[in-house]
This record gives sequence, structure tokens and C-alpha cells, in this order.
Amino acid sequence: MKDYYQILGVEKGASEDDIKRAFRTLAHKYHPDKKGGDEAKFKEVSEAYAVLSDKKRRAEYDTYGRTFSGAGQASGFGGFDFSNADFSGANFQEFDLGDIFGEFFVGMSGRGRTRRGRDISIDIELTFKEAIFGAERRVLISKVGECDICKGSGAKKGTAMRTCESCNGKGAVRETRNSFFGTFTSMRTCPRCKGRGEIPETPCEACAGEGVLRRQEEIVIAVPAGVSDGEMIRMPGRGEAAPGAVAGDLYVKLHVKDDAHFSREGSDLVTTLPIKLTDALLGGEYRIDTLDGEMTITVPAGVEHGEFIRVRGKGVPNGRGSRGDLLVRVHIEFPKKLSKEAKKLIEQLRIAGL
Ligand SMILES: [Zn+2]
Ligand SMILES: [Zn+2]
Repeated sequence: MKDYYQILGVEKGASEDDIKRAFRTLAHKYHPDKKGGDEAKFKEVSEAYAVLSDKKRRAEYDTYGRTFSGAGQASGFGGFDFSNADFSGANFQEFDLGDIFGEFFVGMSGRGRTRRGRDISIDIELTFKEAIFGAERRVLISKVGECDICKGSGAKKGTAMRTCESCNGKGAVRETRNSFFGTFTSMRTCPRCKGRGEIPETPCEACAGEGVLRRQEEIVIAVPAGVSDGEMIRMPGRGEAAPGAVAGDLYVKLHVKDDAHFSREGSDLVTTLPIKLTDALLGGEYRIDTLDGEMTITVPAGVEHGEFIRVRGKGVPNGRGSRGDLLVRVHIEFPKKLSKEAKKLIEQLRIAGL
């Protein structure tokens, strides 16, 4: 059985004020949104406070060592079921513990809360060469965007904004509700002004005063040089707009098509060059394709099958102003059939000890 008094560090006969004070101190200390906070401890402290701050439940706890009324009831002996309660991240910031925490929650609720428009993601396909040298794509996206006519204000051109009467310009309204902690006052984004604190005197006709509307928008995506298949480009603020909030982000997923001649290995490109056996022995010159056009390379005498010839600077741009290399894999084509003539010559090579 948990000792709620011990958890809060108070005496059995502690006054309501003592309990409140103890809880406030410990909740400050352990709040999971705080640096060095401890979620488990915070839950424990909150659970203790929920019981000891409630006269009826405290009496039950004092007498029977458990509570029968309130939220604790559902989970049976010894406490509460916190499994459905989300203390982590943004959800918890919805609470405004106002009179309990005092200044601690100022700035976490109401207008201070970050609201964002929806993120959107699109896929685009690139050729092998586009992925290496970069490309520009224009895509038409249907999304909720800022109204062009009123520039997001929601007001008809030439008309003024006035303070929202629902929230007195605060952008948020108080809402009282019950939870297992007891009664809470939470701050909700004002439904009337959507958190902006002001509303248009005369609404913009294009967007009905919303400041945003669903429309087609052409977005220019500049794909940088040297991207790989599966890579994601994030374009901040190019997602959906939301009234009175910052726009979401646009994520562009890149799909790079394979190439018949080249493959990539980091910032290097790999290609295969078939050469004749005689050129492997004596050396020779070959025309090869690169992404920058054709060029001649020298195959050194005595090159081995599978050996790489490195052509500097003909690979993938690395984003720091230089490029990787082109690696030419030598593929020696051994003749499958030899003419009588050739056979004779090669037998002479054997005699020569090769
Ligand atoms: Zn408008
Ligand atoms: Zn309002």
C-alpha cells in the first residue's frame, strides 16, 4: 500500500494548505516537461494529491487505507489507473493548473501554445541524372492555404479588425472540467477567433473571414544536386495553413530511377567497360560515356578483370563544391571461339612463356 503522506512528505494530520504546498513544490520538481523532471514521480505525487486533497477520499484512505469514491474506484485497491492518462508531450500542456501551480504554467496555455497547420507529404520521381545534378519541379498541390485576398487576416479589404469578445482578445477561453486530479480549469483555443484574439469587422468574402481556404497551389521544389533515392526534402511552412497558427511543413519524398549504365556508391559513380583481351595485355584507349558526355580514357597495359579505373571529378556532387569520381570497372571479354589463325598466334604466346 502506498503511503500518500510519505509521498508528499507531510504528517498524517497535515492541513489542506500543507498538502497543497507540498504538492506544488514536488510537482514543480518532477514535472515531466521540465528539465530533470521525473514522470513516474510526478504521477505518484499527483495520485497522492488527488486523494489527500479530497476530503471524502482522504477520510476513506485514513480509515481503510484505500479509497472507494472518485476516480480511484475503477482500478480497485490502492490507487488509480493512470494508463489512459497521457502526461507526456503536448497533451499535458492542455492542463492549466492555474491556482495550484501559479506562475509555472503561465505561457504554456492559451496563446503561448504552439498550434500548427497540417504537414503534407508528396512524392516525386527523378531521373538518375536529375538526382545527381539537381532539378526543379513544379507541382500543383491542393491544400489549405492563406487567403490571397485578405492575406490571412480574414477581414474584407479596407476594413478593420476588432477584439474578439468571446475571449477578450486573449485567444483562449477557460474551461472547467473534472478529472481524476479533481476539478481543473483548462485553457482552450477560442473557437470564435481561432486563437487570434481578434476578428474581422467585415469578413473577407473569398474565405468567409477564415483567413485560409482550400485551393490549388503551385509549389516550386528545388531538388539539390547529389540527392539519393528515398531522401526527404522538408520545406518548412509550405504545408497547410491554419487560422491563427503557423503553417505546417511540406515533405517531399524523392524516388530516383535506376540508370542502365551507371550506379551509385556514395558520391562515386560506377560503370562497366568491356575491353578486348589484347587491350588488357597491351593497353589501349576507349571512349566512355560519362554524365557530362563522352570522353576518352586510357586502359593501362596489364589491367586485370574487375579492376577499376578512376576518373576524377566525374561523379556525384557532394554539396561542398566538389564531385566524387567515376569508377570504370574493367570487364575483359575473353574470346569464346578462336580462329585457326588466332589459335596459332596464341600458341606462340605459350611458347614465349605467357
Ligand atoms: Zn480572405
Ligand atoms: Zn476569441
